[in-house]
Amino acid sequence: MSLIISIGSNQGHRLKFLGQAKVLLNEKFQLIAESQVYESFAVDYTNQPHFLNQILEYQTPKMDGESILRICQEIEIVLGRIRTIAKGPRTIDIDILFIDDLSQQSAALTIPHSEIQNREFILKPLAELPSFPYLAKKFNLIVLDNKQAWPLSS
Ligand code: ADP
Ligand code: MG
Repeated sequence: MSLIISIGSNQGHRLKFLGQAKVLLNEKFQLIAESQVYESFAVDYTNQPHFLNQILEYQTPKMDGESILRICQEIEIVLGRIRTIAKGPRTIDIDILFIDDLSQQSAALTIPHSEIQNREFILKPLAELPSFPYLAKKFNLIVLDNKQAWPLSS
């Protein structure tokens, strides 16, 4: 299966947290593609530091979404994520964007992730992946460009 994950951080050494999240995810799944790291203004709860985000694509054996979510949440805990303010600062946020081209919804998990089309910091890095043209067509995605997210190196 193809698994596309977004990792984000806006607390502490943000780049180090992204790197550590990638290392831990790479122990569980096989990395096949990755975007550049993007920096962006916080959304929803805007009075907080800029985020860094990156999109990772993995190959996995067949497994259910809840099991993947559990792995992601365990890594969040290992990397010191503490849930205080909803949508507030975090050392690491690991979200599942797509699992193949599945659409599914339960109390704990919505696939594709419900906010993809609203978030420039997801769309821009996602558009770098080889699988983007297929996903964009399948899920009607349009890349936004309101200067809310930019590659870290620029
Ligand atoms: P957010 O990512 O929206 O800022 P959290 O990381 O605290 O907030 O996640 C809140 C809840 O979102 C999680 O407990 C999880 O059950 C749920 N969730 C629903 N769909 C997804 C998804 N695709 N990826 C990750 N979490 C999801
Ligand atoms: Mg999350």
